[in-house]
Amino acid sequence: MESRESAIATHDNDDGADVDVLVIGAGILGLYQLYRAREDGFSVQLVEAGDGLGGTWFWNRYPGARFDSESYTYAFLFSKELFEEWEWQEHFAAQPETERYLNYAVDKFDLRKHIRFGTRVTSAVWDESAGLWTVHASDGAQTRARFVVAALGILSLPVYPEVPGRADFRGEAYHTGLWPKEPVTFEGKRVAVVGTGASGVQIIPEIVDLVDDLTVYQRTPNWCTPLNNRPVTAEEQAALKVGFEQMKEILATSPSGFLHVSSGRKTFDHTKAERWAFYEKVWASPGFSKLTTNYIDMMTNPAANAEWCEFIAEKIRGIVKDPAVADKLIPKDHGYVGKRPPYVTNYFEAYNRPNISLVDLTETPIAGVTETGIETTAGHQEHDMIIWATGFDFGTGSLMKLGARGRGGLPLAEYWADGPATFLGLMCQNFPNFFFPGGPHGAAGNNPRYGGDQSDFIADALVYMREHGYSTIEVPAASEEAWTSMVDAGAQTASFTESSYFYGTNVPGKARRYLINPMGRPKLLEMMKDAVASEYQGFLR
Ligand code: NAP
Repeated sequence: MESRESAIATHDNDDGADVDVLVIGAGILGLYQLYRAREDGFSVQLVEAGDGLGGTWFWNRYPGARFDSESYTYAFLFSKELFEEWEWQEHFAAQPETERYLNYAVDKFDLRKHIRFGTRVTSAVWDESAGLWTVHASDGAQTRARFVVAALGILSLPVYPEVPGRADFRGEAYHTGLWPKEPVTFEGKRVAVVGTGASGVQIIPEIVDLVDDLTVYQRTPNWCTPLNNRPVTAEEQAALKVGFEQMKEILATSPSGFLHVSSGRKTFDHTKAERWAFYEKVWASPGFSKLTTNYIDMMTNPAANAEWCEFIAEKIRGIVKDPAVADKLIPKDHGYVGKRPPYVTNYFEAYNRPNISLVDLTETPIAGVTETGIETTAGHQEHDMIIWATGFDFGTGSLMKLGARGRGGLPLAEYWADGPATFLGLMCQNFPNFFFPGGPHGAAGNNPRYGGDQSDFIADALVYMREHGYSTIEVPAASEEAWTSMVDAGAQTASFTESSYFYGTNVPGKARRYLINPMGRPKLLEMMKDAVASEYQGFLR
């Protein structure tokens, strides 16, 4: 038990604040921000829309949902005791284990009493005269807070495609990002999965042997490669515990927050036979090491990228028995990391089952949903269940819907109408004392690692303010412009295509702007360090 009861201090409330820090969202970052605020001696509350913990790992409870970053690198690293107590069962934990872990951590650190579950924030308005945020929530409560940390997640507002008749369907309909807590049964059912992003390709192999009949509606195939998950052995558990500090050190300095070691080699320094032997090793490696341990020019040299893609295409043709189906599963419009690559278990193998069929929506688009199924231009297919694995309003979706209003009543949705402007992907002008760790322009790899860096930056800034008597922190225009223009410029050389959700293209009417951090984690850390070293010059009042 590491929590410090005495740290749940309240400050003098003569400014009318109910709480120093109001955190929104009980995902990994929100929980960590709650922990830091409490340990730093601030009064803190966390408001969570769901009736349980986990954020992403609460809502995405569809069969097959699991990490594709190594469990122990994705989890909390602030407590050695917690790290030693929780033995991850698999290198890439499935959703139920992650949810159990987060509940364990919350109870261990006695955080639950600070959380209001089942409560959705409906507005957060900056009160200029009081220098406080007034936050209203779906339970009718009003909270006055000095600081708001909106840890809403970048993949938390599910998107349904605009297909006519979707609401008319009389069977069961689910979105992977809003999966129900109640058990869903698949046996004996004719099931449709629409979408083949990272969620769709996880659920398909998981349910194919349960359902009577599975139809996959695919618009764009992705470059899927094996996750290569396996149990963490007793020897590995022991080594993880012994190596905790060293692992933390590696992760703290890793460009994308992984333990993987770069190959240091370029593609065409090897002969074709050597390349293929190297790719076999990469193919057999875990998760994101397909990216991080591949040839170092794989993402920057189109010919190198094409070579790796050809290797994957050969693999797909080798696994999928029907050559026409195999061909449809091979991406044609983007290279590796042109879209976010998924990591899979038995995904391509699933297409060899007798009860699965693949509908290529580029040939026969969906015309509409009926009461009993899906109509494409090739005809009507009856379904008992439709699973929409159609993604999220990435980066800004949840923040824009929060009802946040900054200086002069400016709505965040209006300020970002043409795309987000941020500093370090965690603050923006006109919104004093308002932070969004894990927000747009921040993402640069293993989410909790750089998000944790952002949460630490926020927590340290609050401590500094208290110690030096400041009440307001806000981004100077020049800092916001510097970071945002770096993002826009970096996007020109980033590997993601404009058709990926990283540009917001999957949401009709959304401004097309680059939504992640193309400079990577090192630049994020460098600029945070500069801000701290300058004692937040220009930020504080
Ligand atoms: P996604 O990557 O955005 O995929 C959405 C899928 O739905 C795409 O195949 C898309 O096709 C399709 N789609 C969208 N609108 C459609 C329409 N009108 N008709 C037909 N198809 C349509 O969403 P996701 O799979 O939920 O994954 C989102 C992100 O969540 C991932 O990239 C990843 O960052 C995270 N995630 C992580 C894991 C993990 O392993 N840890 C698992 C799941 C998700 P187009 O490509 O043609 O638009």
